[in-house]
Amino acid sequence: CGVFGIYAPELEVARLTYYALYALQHRGQESAGIAVSDGRKIDGHKGMGLVSEVFTVHQLLKLTGKIAIGHVRYSTTGSSLLSNAQPLVVHYQQGMMALAHNGNLTNALELREELGKDGVVFQTTIDSEVIVKMIARYRRTNLEDALVKTMLDLQGAYALVITAEDKLIGVRDPYGLRPLCIGQVGGRYCIASESCALDTIGAEFVRDVKPGEIITIDEEGLHARQGLPAQKFAGCAFEYIYFARPDSTIDQINVTESRRQMGIELARECPIDADIVIPVPDSGMSAALGYSEESGIPFAQGLLKNRYVGRTFIQPTQEMREVAVRLKLNANAGVLKGKRVIMIDDSIVRGTTSSRLVDLVRKAGATEVHLLISSPPVTYPCYYGIDTAEREKLIAAQLDNEGIREFIGADSLHYLTPEGLIRALGGRSVCLACFSGDYPASVPSERSGKLNL
Ligand code: 5GP
Ligand code: SF4
Ligand code: MG
Repeated sequence: CGVFGIYAPELEVARLTYYALYALQHRGQESAGIAVSDGRKIDGHKGMGLVSEVFTVHQLLKLTGKIAIGHVRYSTTGSSLLSNAQPLVVHYQQGMMALAHNGNLTNALELREELGKDGVVFQTTIDSEVIVKMIARYRRTNLEDALVKTMLDLQGAYALVITAEDKLIGVRDPYGLRPLCIGQVGGRYCIASESCALDTIGAEFVRDVKPGEIITIDEEGLHARQGLPAQKFAGCAFEYIYFARPDSTIDQINVTESRRQMGIELARECPIDADIVIPVPDSGMSAALGYSEESGIPFAQGLLKNRYVGRTFIQPTQEMREVAVRLKLNANAGVLKGKRVIMIDDSIVRGTTSSRLVDLVRKAGATEVHLLISSPPVTYPCYYGIDTAEREKLIAAQLDNEGIREFIGADSLHYLTPEGLIRALGGRSVCLACFSGDYPASVPSERSGKLNL
């Protein structure tokens, strides 16, 4: 998911949020929503589909106020339903509150049951509603104190934007699992999942929100406070590998540059005798450039992407994903015929994309197809907000390298090592749990893992 928030009484906050969500669209395509506050009352609109489908000019014009938050969603918990769209807007004793969440809680079921015992009812099946209800329950003195208490109870990953009583709040979990950064525009502040959203609305990047930090933005400006002590930093490596937009910089690392470095590392680890290097667009682009640069093998665009088709992975069912792959990519025989090809993609999850593409490239006349992946094999599920699927569906959890190669039909298959990945990220400590099974934060209990909220 993607989140955004802005405090700016003199600007058109709904419109700016709309543009920011447009820039964050790659983070979720199932639903989009904006909530606007005038300091007391909160009004909102949300719907299923892309930002451009959910909002008309008319709806945007109706949303006036001085604070806005927005959300784009792809479902990692809860079903793909309108009632699960965010921001969540609630009335509580102190007034109104709206919240948007990126990440997954790992103890949502337990917290839900606890709240349920106190008579709390739920309107959605998403973990994010638990957070709103916890904040409301702990609310005695000020909002930030309630948030600290809530954070003590929350396990897992969360990057939050919240608006209540005349302020905008941003929160990042103590591991920094999901990204969140601060920008400045017209002397006011905003908060976004990725810096590309700041660029889009003409905001200057200020800094990343620190793990465990609570950022409050109000009439006086920006205040920061450490909600919980930061844990050993564990920002998601998959943001760099695949998820984030290439023009974003997350926790001081530029996404495109990190992908180019992954390609360079891959060339060092897996030198192969071939005629051309082709990327699987768009996600393999920078890694293929890095590989080409380091190996001296020419870069070529052997696969063409239909730009009118969105991300294949962020489609709820396997069937939808398979059709989408075919709609999305085509091989260019003019480039591939008679060539020994190195094809570079960022990751293999289920293996559907790769097997289809190797087939396409061969049919277009390639004499050899070597598939190189700019990340290690995905062998464990993500519990922190990226839909890398259950373990049974992860091809690398089921088959060894030779088995996967055979399934995909490539002449050879190589993955970047975890060490190579860490080098590409400048030695940063990051979450690598989907490759190693070494989860930095807690994982769901067996019971809550089985129950799909
Ligand atoms: P597969 O067909 O192996 O399941 O999909 C791998 C492809 O999906 C890669 O090209 C990768 O860029 C793309 N992809 C899209 N969304 C995701 C995601 O959320 N996680 C991962 N690992 N890969 C994704
Ligand atoms: Fe990211 Fe993988 Fe960690 Fe999930 S498990 S947060 S996808 S690195
Ligand atoms: Mg891809």
